[in-house]
Amino acid sequence: MKIKTAEFIISNSDVAKCPKERIAEYAFIGRSNVGKSSLINMITDRNKLAKTSGRPGKTQLINHFKINNEWFLVDLPGYGYAKVSKSIKKTFQSFIKQYFLNREQLICTFVLIDSRLEPQKIDLEFMEFLGENGIPFCIIFTKADKLKLNELNKNIQFYSKKMTSTLWEEMPPYFATSATNSTGKEELLNYIDQINNQ
Ligand code: GDP
Repeated sequence: MKIKTAEFIISNSDVAKCPKERIAEYAFIGRSNVGKSSLINMITDRNKLAKTSGRPGKTQLINHFKINNEWFLVDLPGYGYAKVSKSIKKTFQSFIKQYFLNREQLICTFVLIDSRLEPQKIDLEFMEFLGENGIPFCIIFTKADKLKLNELNKNIQFYSKKMTSTLWEEMPPYFATSATNSTGKEELLNYIDQINNQ
């Protein structure tokens, strides 16, 4: 998919005020500082569509962007930053939880995971929440440029083992990306394109 237009539409903290338009919607979420804003800017070829920040936990709103006049890209607040909220429960009792439980247009959620880290409880719990509520998701392993290919593969395998040894029958679809060298861009956009054209 080629990104022709990427347009900011609205930010808010109330799912009832999200755009009414019934077009396919894809959400991006992860721990603060995981590289979400950088990834959004990389896949849309825009330097400043999502605000990257040295200050984790800054984006505390649901941000809708319309891509190619065809689908919504939704930038959701980062979770797990100690100064913003101590536990996922606290955060997800709020509007984000309402977003996931009520947003009918939501086709797929991309859960961003730092490819360098061991599986983190907060991410596993969040994916459990998605699973329990039947919300489809994929995993994006970010900052892949920071690892050698064999290390990256090892970490992904380890993650997969962790998931399938607990709650999950299989690993969800996943991507490895780098905002620095655009790794994974085509794969991710093609995946979205494929769903949009189904
Ligand atoms: P967010 O809080 O999840 O939106 O994270 P940001 O996109 O603001 O990125 C957090 C930090 O990680 C910044 O210092 C980025 O420059 C850095 N970063 C983000 N993505 C990548 C990546 O793919 N590779 C590398 N090497 N650094 C990245």
